[in-house]
Amino acid sequence: MRIVLLGAPGSGKGTQSQKLQAKYGVPQVSSGDLLRDAVARGTELGLKAKAVMNAGQLVSDDIVLGLIRERLSRPDAAKGFILDGFPRNIDQANSLASLLDTLGQPLDAVLLLDVQRETLVKRLAGRRMCPKCGTVYNVHSMPGGVTTCAKDGAELQQRADDKEEVVAKRLEVYEQQTRPLVEHYSNLGLLRVVAGEGELDEVFERMESAALARPVSTDKIAVRRVSTRKQKSTAKSAGASQRDTKRKAARAPAKKMSKAAAKKGAAKQSKAKRKASARKTSKKKGARTAKKSVRRAAKKRAVKPRSKK
Ligand code: AMP
Repeated sequence: MRIVLLGAPGSGKGTQSQKLQAKYGVPQVSSGDLLRDAVARGTELGLKAKAVMNAGQLVSDDIVLGLIRERLSRPDAAKGFILDGFPRNIDQANSLASLLDTLGQPLDAVLLLDVQRETLVKRLAGRRMCPKCGTVYNVHSMPGGVTTCAKDGAELQQRADDKEEVVAKRLEVYEQQTRPLVEHYSNLGLLRVVAGEGELDEVFERMESAALARPVSTDKIAVRRVSTRKQKSTAKSAGASQRDTKRKAARAPAKKMSKAAAKKGAAKQSKAKRKASARKTSKKKGARTAKKSVRRAAKKRAVKPRSKK
């Protein structure tokens, strides 16, 4: 599993990659976590990054790429990785491609977590993090009154960049710099879009199936041709079966009728009979009348005195 998780801040990349990591034993590599760790340790790099992060801007590509390169070179990443939050612009995507090329570990897929803006804002504003173990919580889904981490009891904190004014900036940066990656990875045939709204486990199921579905490369698809002979025989048998059906239908006994239908049928029949006999009678009558008038005409002719010449 070598995947990139793409999505706006608050789309659930962190939560979902933690779940994938737990289930598949593939490390989550989060550029945000690596940066936060550097900030917390007070390293030179961390000091540089802190102000930029708190303003909701992107840290310089060199800094982030250095951290990612070091992390992906560790032995546990040899069996795969889930990149969360990296790359965040086209330059980073190109640098990642050459890094993975050197490591001989091409990407399997890029999963885009698709979430609408209102949900993102709500999630970011309610997000709380454990400063010790990094577990992510949300006040909207936590039992009321709970303020500590369920794993180690540490007091949960709100990230400085989850404050309302910074959230707007981060979403704007995402639209301008990160969104173009959707088209970039789509053109490379790596993009899979996952609906990121709904229950956490439902989204996880969608993520799993998107991550595990392997696209089949075109050179591995064998298209079988149907031979002409087979087609002919198929046509023959189709004709034969049509004839069989007709024969069967001819032999089949008449369907049983319901009482009402039988009555109706009988009424129809007797009406038709009456009509036919009426026609016959009128014909007979007509014939008789014609005969009579012929006879009368003959009589007349017979009684008519011949004129003397
Ligand atoms: P995240 O935890 O992914 O939301 O990242 C928090 C902050 O870390 C971002 O707002 C950026 O300031 C910085 N950051 C994380 N990943 C990157 C990256 N790939 N490139 C530049 N800055 C990053």
